[in-house]
Amino acid sequence: AETGFRTQNPESNEVEERFDYISDAEVEQALAAAHQEYRSWSARPMSERVEIARRIADTFEEQRGELAEIISTEMGKPLNEAKAEIWTCVSIFRYYADNGPELAADKVIKHEGGFKAVLQSRPLGALLGIMPWNFPFYQIARFAAPNLILGNTILLKHAETCPQSGLAVERVFREAGLPDGAYQNVFITHDQVEPIIADARIQGVSLTGSERAGAAVAEIAGRHLKKVVLELGGSDAHIYLNADDARAAAQKAFGKRMYNMGQACTSNKRLLVAEHLYDDFLDEVTRAAGELVPGNPLKPAEGNYYPLSSEAAAVRLNEQIQRAVDQGATLHAGGGRPDQPGAYVEPTVLSGITEEMDAYHEELFGPVVMVYKVKNAEEALAIANSSPYGLGGAVFSSDRDEAQAAAEQLETGMTNVNVGGSEAADMPFGGVKRSGMGRELGPLGMDEFVNKRLLYIN
Ligand code: NDP
Repeated sequence: AETGFRTQNPESNEVEERFDYISDAEVEQALAAAHQEYRSWSARPMSERVEIARRIADTFEEQRGELAEIISTEMGKPLNEAKAEIWTCVSIFRYYADNGPELAADKVIKHEGGFKAVLQSRPLGALLGIMPWNFPFYQIARFAAPNLILGNTILLKHAETCPQSGLAVERVFREAGLPDGAYQNVFITHDQVEPIIADARIQGVSLTGSERAGAAVAEIAGRHLKKVVLELGGSDAHIYLNADDARAAAQKAFGKRMYNMGQACTSNKRLLVAEHLYDDFLDEVTRAAGELVPGNPLKPAEGNYYPLSSEAAAVRLNEQIQRAVDQGATLHAGGGRPDQPGAYVEPTVLSGITEEMDAYHEELFGPVVMVYKVKNAEEALAIANSSPYGLGGAVFSSDRDEAQAAAEQLETGMTNVNVGGSEAADMPFGGVKRSGMGRELGPLGMDEFVNKRLLYIN
């Protein structure tokens, strides 16, 4: 398989451009610049950082067409979804520009001792971000926006498959007036990650990606006593207890599962359906999956499913599907790869997945719908909570009280009642168990890389 920072269009699997790793001397320069800029960036009044954040939002908005093309070219999502991703970045920078000053404002603590006690949010310093390819702009935005406004500075290592996305984000930030040292895209190897985290000038690291990457980076951070935020995988269960129209519910669930070709941490990877809804539900997702035809991400009107982010991802997912079938799962639609170049995997529907099968425990990061038949809420919750992950989850019922009572028992960081998801700039995002630690977005996204300093005044 190909390695190194490269733009390899998954629609054709052709390498369009390659980028060199930077040298250790250049890593040192980047660290020095991030540290030096931290002194002046954090000393500015917050209003100036907010002003630049607003200009970043405006620049994303102005350039969203061309930026979206970079995303579609590098990781294969259709252009309309890529534009929506840029739009999310706009909303994140605007949210933190609007709310950052209040979120980071001094808060008086009630105190009996007679002195005045104030809780402050102070920046920490330079941070390392390690980000994945599934939302190459959004993943950066939700880390960068609150931290830049707080006064932290950032070194950003993007996925090797998204170098031009990494460069484009850096360019947008600079065009909007962010000083060079405040945010630097770095093309580094995995081996160059440890010395950066170990460096006294780095105060923390935020990673979004796989469990494997998260564990590797958290281990390094632990060794060097650095704060970590981890947004790792998920295998969200969406539970259907009752529905007025099982087919309509199935269509919505299917649409969500196909979003970003299923490569989202909070995709509804497991659909747990009550017996009386099950046949209609399964029939409807099977029909919907069978109707899709492959398309070109840059011409999304011509098809309705798209390649995965890379050939390696397609091979891995295809192996997971084959293994599930070999281990006894029932295949209703898809199950293979279409006869054409590119990282395509057919939209696939599986049922009959049991605890003995790998698919029961793994994250299937692509267009695979797994449908489980459940007797009642109790059985659904037992299956849902048996996952090693705990990112998001949802319960649906025409009886909202029933749905909420069940939802309250989900072991997740985000729990939805009669709605597929809550992702928005102002909603905290993150998980429990092996889905990671810490929160991004919303008010909590501004609470991670801060010195919650106590100021005690006589
Ligand atoms: P990775 O976790 O390997 O990639 C995410 C980021 O972590 C990339 O920038 C990657 O860099 C970096 N990284 C990986 N290993 C290390 C390491 N040891 N030290 C430092 N940085 C590292 O994701 P994959 O592309 O391998 O995808 C595998 C699976 O991960 C998916 O199938 C999915 O299950 C899960 N995933 C979940 C995501 C989510 O949003 N929760 C996002 C992406 C993946 P590099 O590109 O250089 O390897």
